[in-house]
Amino acid sequence: MAVYRSKGIVLRSIRYGEADRILDLYTRDAGLVSTIAKGIRRTRSRFGGRLEPLSCVDFLAYEGRTLDTVTQVEVLRSFHGVREDLKRLEAAGGMVATVRALSGGDEADRRVFNLLYHALDALENRDSGFESVEAAFSLKLSTLAGYTPRLDACVSCERDLDEAFDGELPYFAPNLGGVLCADCRAAASDAFPLPPETLSSLQTLVARPIREASIEERLGESVRRVVSAHVLAHAPGSTVLVAPDKRTLRPA
Ligand SMILES: [Zn+2]
Repeated sequence: MAVYRSKGIVLRSIRYGEADRILDLYTRDAGLVSTIAKGIRRTRSRFGGRLEPLSCVDFLAYEGRTLDTVTQVEVLRSFHGVREDLKRLEAAGGMVATVRALSGGDEADRRVFNLLYHALDALENRDSGFESVEAAFSLKLSTLAGYTPRLDACVSCERDLDEAFDGELPYFAPNLGGVLCADCRAAASDAFPLPPETLSSLQTLVARPIREASIEERLGESVRRVVSAHVLAHAPGSTVLVAPDKRTLRPA
């Protein structure tokens, strides 16, 4: 049995049996893993502190056929400020659903782990604009997953923005993964109009670090529409996104 140590962020924590918990973790070294922590709910559990969803932990586990067994765990950062505030929690719930939707299996991607950590940190450390963090997270995660949205030129004819969009509104085509000029609009049946201000807001979210994520309030809805359509179009496990079960994020 291979034993390994990693850092991980708890995506989901479900009670199991009398005293156990199943923990889904996004780990720094092994991607998405499902683990069981035995006896964790006993009062005198050797795990000590509680293992809440969104906590960042350092853990030791041995590999099993379906579930890995966690034998030691230490909470590095609990992110309780995110968990205990409904608006922050909702944004975090959306991010967790996007991680599940866009990460296909147990591929290790340290950059995904780091992005999630920094996004939770940004949620905890700001007083507003939680949805901006969620949108920036989804765009950056799409890029890490290999689905960079094309926002600088038409995905079909490849003409530059300035040249192609002279006076005409561009479109966003989720399945083609980017902007479509008015001439190419017919290339995608799912294309919808993309106001220039929304486009520039998206470009800024992609370019800036996640802690600086900011969307003007009046553009929020239109930016979120593009982001969720893009993620949904590229998510193999997209059903999670349709109905993200945020209840599983609440401490049980
Ligand atoms: Zn075009």
